[in-house]
Order: sequence, then structure tokens, then C-alpha cells
Amino acid sequence: MRRREEEKGDDGMVAGLRDGAGRVVEYLRISVTDRCNLRCRYCMPPEGIARKSHHDILRYEEIVRAVRAVVPLGLTRVRLTGGEPLVRPGLPDLVRMLCAIQGLRDIALTTNGQLLAQYARELRDAGLRRVNVSLDTLQAGRYREITVGGEIGPVLEGLAAVREVGFSPLKINAVVIRGMNDDEVADFARLTIDEPYDVRFIEFMPMGEIGLWSPEAVVPEEETRAAIEALGPLEPAPTPATSRGGEAWRLRGAKGTVAFISPISRPFCGACNRLRLTADGELRPCLLSDRSVDLRAVLRAGACDSYVRAAFVEAASAKPAAHRLREGVTCPTRTPMAAIGG
Ligand code: SAM
Repeated sequence: MRRREEEKGDDGMVAGLRDGAGRVVEYLRISVTDRCNLRCRYCMPPEGIARKSHHDILRYEEIVRAVRAVVPLGLTRVRLTGGEPLVRPGLPDLVRMLCAIQGLRDIALTTNGQLLAQYARELRDAGLRRVNVSLDTLQAGRYREITVGGEIGPVLEGLAAVREVGFSPLKINAVVIRGMNDDEVADFARLTIDEPYDVRFIEFMPMGEIGLWSPEAVVPEEETRAAIEALGPLEPAPTPATSRGGEAWRLRGAKGTVAFISPISRPFCGACNRLRLTADGELRPCLLSDRSVDLRAVLRAGACDSYVRAAFVEAASAKPAAHRLREGVTCPTRTPMAAIGG
């Protein structure tokens, strides 16, 4: 890794993380584990992914140290993901340590919800305020099929638990895949009428050698939206500043909202403000690029904070301007989402 001093501005502050295209990086998605308690057919190969050894995975203290070092560069938000973040013991401890970092404004979690009922209170007490739950079907039998044996009951209990302890907004992420769950788009939208859920419909991306992806399997935003509009017109709803991609919409009188995250039909690379940190300490400039910076080596070499910051500066400057999915160009090694951290 090249050593690069971060620049200082006139006020002596460390200059922010800006990439070559002028985008400001302020958001880090942190995968805390490569392990998962589900085997979603479109995300993981059936045999799972090669597990990293315990020693290779960043310790919570290492994650916290990296985040603390980079907040002066303008990092304001982190999201914990995986694998399944809640399978890693002591996740609320990490949340608590991150919450204590001055300048970090937003800490969120993406989970499949299987263990959420058990951890909702502890996470809330630790300072977590935002949770996204991944749920691709509302049908128990189909849930078992998609997740290869998972039960939907614990997810529904998890959603109830996070509402009970006061999390808001409550986001549900559903990847829409043709022939798998595209017939449920209207059911998810109907759910928002009486329940305050914000359902985000995500286009299926070609990640990993899982063989389920094809251009035909992608349900474009336009089609998903049409299925919802068959229930009634969509009205613009206030979109949270933290939202990625699409604006929020509401069916008339609905308590919740819907939104569309459409990396293929409406790419949002121009507004991308994130880096990713894999569980074993690789900093990834882009989900769809194989470039990475070995942050773990820097952390374990006993380097001072300016070297940690230099690793982030290097990763930010390696962000490609845009993905080329529409031209059929994907990540060369097609690393599964579960290995990078979705
Ligand atoms: N286990 C956690 C969960 O289920 O939310 C976090 C990790 S999971 C990899 C994060 C998100 O990535 C999930 O919402 C999952 O549906 C999504 N995902 C996985 N593979 C995807 C793909 N090929 N295209 C779009 N989204 C995908």
C-alpha cells in the first residue's frame, strides 16, 4: 500500500475523503462476519462460502480503532452487515463502542432478522437506532425454499420486537427476482397500508457464481412499480437523508412507504458515498470491483492513525466512476455478496 499523507486544509483540519470523480465518501459498510445462519439461494452457494479463520477476522477493537481514525476525514455513518451480523457474539458491544465515537452520527444494522427478537432490546440500549431487515417473501413455505430451510416466524417476531422497543423507521429490504417472488410485490406494498414499514424493492445484481442471475431474472423498477400502482397511485413521501438510491413513495393513506433501489435500471453510482470493509479487513471501493486495500495489515502492523487514514484515502481514490452492469460487465471474481458484506 502506498503511504500517502492526507492533505491539511487552511484550518489545519484533515481534508475529507474525496474520490477522483469528486464524490465525498462519508459512509462505511462494515461486515462483521462472513458467516450466516441462512443460505439464501441467490446470495450464497449451497455449500456456503469458504470460512475465514478466526484470526483473519477483524476484532471489534480493530474495527473501532479504524473508524475512530477515519472520522476526522469526514466519515459520519456506518452500517453493520455480514454474513449475518447477529451471529457474531457480542454485537451490541461493538454498537456501544461505535456509539461512543464523537462525530459518528449514524450507526445502522442490516440483518436477516433471525436473531433480532433476542437482541432488539440490547441493541437499542447499546445506542442503535436504525435496523433494516431483509425479507424477500411473506410466505412461510417460500421463505424456507429461498433461504434453504429458514423459518419466517423468527423474522416476524424480530420485526415486532424492534417496533416494540422503539426502532423507527422500520425498513424491509426485498430483492425482487423473476419467478422467485415477483408475484409478491403487491403483497409487500399492501403491508405498508396498515403497518409503518418502509419496504425497499431491490433489483437483483450479478454477484457471485451462484448461477441464479441472468438478465431475465432482474425485475426492473418500472415493472415492480407498475405492480404496486395497480393497487392505487403512489404519492411522493419524505425521503430520509440516509436513503440510498430512490425516493420514497406512499400509497394514499398508507402508514408506511415503498422505495426502489435499482442499481441496474437506475444506477446511482454518481451519488455513491460509501466504502466497504470486509470481515477480514479488506477495504473495498465498490461492491462491483475487485480492487481492495489491505486495512488489516495496516492495523496489525501497529501503524499510527495517519497510515490508517491513508488506507481509506487510497480506497476512496480507487472508486470506479460507475459500474458497467448494463454492458454486462460484472465484478471479475464475482465475489458473493455474503463475502463482501451486502
Ligand atoms: N445477513 C444480512 C441480511 O440478510 O440482511 C446482511 C448481509 S446480506 C448479504 C445483505 C443484503 O444483500 C440482503 O438484503 C440480501 O438480500 C442482499 N443481496 C444478496 N445478494 C444480492 C444480489 N445478488 N442482488 C441484490 N441484493 C442482494
